[in-house]
Amino acid sequence: MHTLVGRFTSRLGKNYTRVVSRSLATLPKAPQITDIRNVGIIAHIDAGKTTTTERMLYYSGVTNRIGNVDTGDTVTDFLEAERARGITIQSAAITFNWNDHQINLIDTPGHADFNYEVVRSIRVLDGCVTILDGVSGVEALTEKVWKLAAEMQVPRIVYINKMDRPGAGFSRTVREVVSKLKTKVVLLFLPYFEGEEFKGVLDVVNMLRIKYVSQDGRDVEVLPAAETDQNDVFLQARAALIDQLSEFDDAVLDEFIDTNDVQTKTLVEAIRKCTSENNIVPVLCGASFRNIGIQPLMEACTSYLPSPTVPVNSNILTMLAFKVRHDPQRGVMVFVRVYSGQLKRNLQLYNTTTKKKEKVSKLLRMQADNPVEQESFGPGEIAVLLGTNSIRTGDTIVGGPKLTNAQKSIQLQPIQTPPPVFFIRISPKSVGDMRTMKDALDILLREDPSLHLTYDEEAAQYLLSGMGELHLEIATDRLVNELNARVEIGEVMITLKETFAGTSSTVTKSSVDANGGTTTVSVTALSHDSASSHEGSPVSSMSTQIIDQNNVSTVFRGHRLIDGSDVKKQVVYGITPVLARGGFYGHALFGLDFQCEVKISPEAENPDLVTPLIREATIEAISTVHDKSFELLEPVMDVDIQVPRSTMGAVISDLSTNRRGQMKSLEDSEEIGEDNDYMDISKTIWAPVDHTMYMSKHEDGKGNNVRLQARVPLRKMVGYLSTLRSITQGRGAFEMNFSKFSPVPSQDIEDVRNQ
Ligand code: GDP
Repeated sequence: MHTLVGRFTSRLGKNYTRVVSRSLATLPKAPQITDIRNVGIIAHIDAGKTTTTERMLYYSGVTNRIGNVDTGDTVTDFLEAERARGITIQSAAITFNWNDHQINLIDTPGHADFNYEVVRSIRVLDGCVTILDGVSGVEALTEKVWKLAAEMQVPRIVYINKMDRPGAGFSRTVREVVSKLKTKVVLLFLPYFEGEEFKGVLDVVNMLRIKYVSQDGRDVEVLPAAETDQNDVFLQARAALIDQLSEFDDAVLDEFIDTNDVQTKTLVEAIRKCTSENNIVPVLCGASFRNIGIQPLMEACTSYLPSPTVPVNSNILTMLAFKVRHDPQRGVMVFVRVYSGQLKRNLQLYNTTTKKKEKVSKLLRMQADNPVEQESFGPGEIAVLLGTNSIRTGDTIVGGPKLTNAQKSIQLQPIQTPPPVFFIRISPKSVGDMRTMKDALDILLREDPSLHLTYDEEAAQYLLSGMGELHLEIATDRLVNELNARVEIGEVMITLKETFAGTSSTVTKSSVDANGGTTTVSVTALSHDSASSHEGSPVSSMSTQIIDQNNVSTVFRGHRLIDGSDVKKQVVYGITPVLARGGFYGHALFGLDFQCEVKISPEAENPDLVTPLIREATIEAISTVHDKSFELLEPVMDVDIQVPRSTMGAVISDLSTNRRGQMKSLEDSEEIGEDNDYMDISKTIWAPVDHTMYMSKHEDGKGNNVRLQARVPLRKMVGYLSTLRSITQGRGAFEMNFSKFSPVPSQDIEDVRNQ
């Protein structure tokens, strides 16, 4: 028997000799596009994303010691607010090298409030690593984000972490991956235990047992499968692998028919192809905290996840800003992904979203919180722009010496932001603090388009609204502690809106300027329902939620040539502040359409009169709506709850009697989903026997969970977590998402208004 003792290098499985990882400095600066991997990590909070990332940085030579999330000194969670709470909030882009590839790791947040950030990061990824906790398996948020990644056709790898924990079940988790995430899998690495202790991994592709022998996870003992006492398991795993791949890959099938075996090279190629084409998902395992299984995961990222692709026929520079962050030393940093062309420092840039020219003073490549300057970036690369002053998250930027109008209107698919459901009041501590407060708020809004700012004229206060309580808490924390704004901050409150049924009177306003030219506007406000039944009229589709200049239809009479879009803009400027003022209840108006007519006579000097006239007319039009037609609206959430079956009755009763919850469905947690194909596959796929599975199944009642879905007003969900915990003795969990704004029941209106 011969045992190879070696040290992990960036060539797992090919070379186990003692070679220390190469440092970044010795690697080529401008990578070939085929050597780039833009990878994101999706994981439920606490699954071990930060721990795993830290190890990757260590093995790739970016850091020379292993950070520890439990003591708050990790490289990725570098925001103060993150350190304090021990969660990852902002996506940070980190670049490191492994196996002659450049991996750009886009860190994604693990909290539901920041789901928007997750979507934003997925947009710029070419591949994803999904980290699961081997004890808790597939959790609700992971399912949600996975679905997004699947819709965007981003290839995925699964890494089952925490295999060292008692109750971890590799095969149980694999079956959950298949049934809940609805995907086919191939098991590339199996857990290796000595007694109860998790010691390493079984590499099915290379048929090697890899036992980790040093604390930092660099030194391993490698034994060919045939020389271990687990050769049977190896053979079964390999047969299963060949079987699954041959379903999609003819090369594997042919080779197997011809030789009754398949070479490692053919397998690797097939796994890469099937993963890139989203036919299968490779599964690996490890225990990041114990430094076991990380290098194989890095290897899988470079071998199986695809490199970026360049759109054909595109030489001009196109990029998407996926993150804006204020840095105390460097100012505003804009993270972009280059899709085509070359980004160079002195190139003239154009923001096709805001229609503004942009200038850049410096270009940086990120290494966690230690960015380095670089002069030029190619397709697929992630760059940081410094010195720009108006790029916001989600903007498309193009560049080149002479841009055509068509190029100036290129839009990379923008990211939709969901409506904010929580808000807080913010005011400066003193009049003199107004300016710095506004500047700080501007920075926050550029960074995070899921935050919204409105001004409450009556109270003379700003209202900052966002996706969740934690979201706002973090935002205001940054406002005060990082951006040094001196502000008074109110309590987190639930956003209410109002609307009305029917149609307002049409109000006409006109004004004569010094030249004798007239500007006449008329405005009719209608609820969405009446708008759609108003046939043949030039009804706009402007909603109170998203307003842009293209959403208002204006009718021009008269002969003067005025740029139509300017008039539309003025109409929007006139209506918007009126919407924020509200109607009967004093909450922002929502779900309305506006029919506007603007007539400007040929002699008119001053087309700027449109805005004030529209504003006046809109206020008056809304005041003609009868009080009784107004409705108060509140956010209603889709709530997804998982609880032990024995507590189901109590949970449902609490939802329907105390919380006005409407039950939507009830499913057996083990039988979730309409797609029974994957349920069947999950039961029949080959997976090794779990040592600890049965124990844990009974221990935490996992096999006996039910999943409830309900629609509940947000105000009734305050403090729900502690109620759920107490009803279920700590075993229940829930996720919620905004569903819609719906009318407050009449008997609750007083209560809600007083809150
Ligand atoms: P994140 O929220 O996904 O970034 O998760 P963290 O990396 O912060 O890890 C959450 C907790 O799980 C921390 O207390 C880690 O020490 C612990 N943890 C992470 N990986 C492992 C592992 O492999 N085994 C065990 N037992 N604990 C782990």
